[in-house]
Amino acid sequence: MRIVVKVGTSTLAHKTGNLNIKRVEELCKVLSDLKNAGHEIVLVSSGAIGMGLGKLSLVERPDDIPTKQAAAAVGQCELMYTYDKLFSEYNHTVAQILLTGDDVKNAERHRNFQNTVSRLLELGALPVINENDSVATDEIVIGDNDTLGAIVAQSVGADLVVILSDIDGLYTADPRNDENAELLSVVERIDESIMALAGGSGSNLGTGGMKTKITAAEIAVGAGIDLVITNGNNPSVLYDIVDGNSFVGTKFKA
Ligand code: GLU
Repeated sequence: MRIVVKVGTSTLAHKTGNLNIKRVEELCKVLSDLKNAGHEIVLVSSGAIGMGLGKLSLVERPDDIPTKQAAAAVGQCELMYTYDKLFSEYNHTVAQILLTGDDVKNAERHRNFQNTVSRLLELGALPVINENDSVATDEIVIGDNDTLGAIVAQSVGADLVVILSDIDGLYTADPRNDENAELLSVVERIDESIMALAGGSGSNLGTGGMKTKITAAEIAVGAGIDLVITNGNNPSVLYDIVDGNSFVGTKFKA
């Protein structure tokens, strides 16, 4: 299977913005193992801004764009350094690709991106993709990595997208303040009632929330690709998802 795994900042970093070492080590181990089993993995990783803020000791998320872009420039290095180091332990080679909205809208640049990813996969490398936050402005921004994950999946003809989040999946209400909220394990069709379940952004380090995940699901499902939302706190859940076993999460069926 060709699998796009999107991992959010809240999975990769502690609330301080510093790296969640145990989590990231587990993630890299499971992804390496799935590659060893013959699957092709493309990782869409957030965390540049969050980790940059941690490294620069900026505890509050800044509002101004230059500070966020500076943080992304610092954090992207930290991210790739970490992935390179951890995947190397399992003999896997990572490759960094940074995209903006323009790169996927412009036919030639989009084709170049597709060719690069497919060559990297042929060569056995593991592409790690993020938005090029340091140069993206309002006009060209994709804006969130859930959407980026779905766009990447569509571009590279993936079989499956898995969004690793800080929440188990899509609930009938916000489980953080409604104890009767129920997890939806399968969504057959994204209609008005599903759209209505999407609230705003979740944590203060990432930018997503359920809304962007449902947008991502619409893109993936529209392209004939299943999309799963599950909790990133236990990366081994990826084995169950890939093997078709039951798991805690929400599967949007293509
Ligand atoms: N590209 C952003 C980052 O790496 C994250 C965007 C998102 O999480 O949706 O910090």
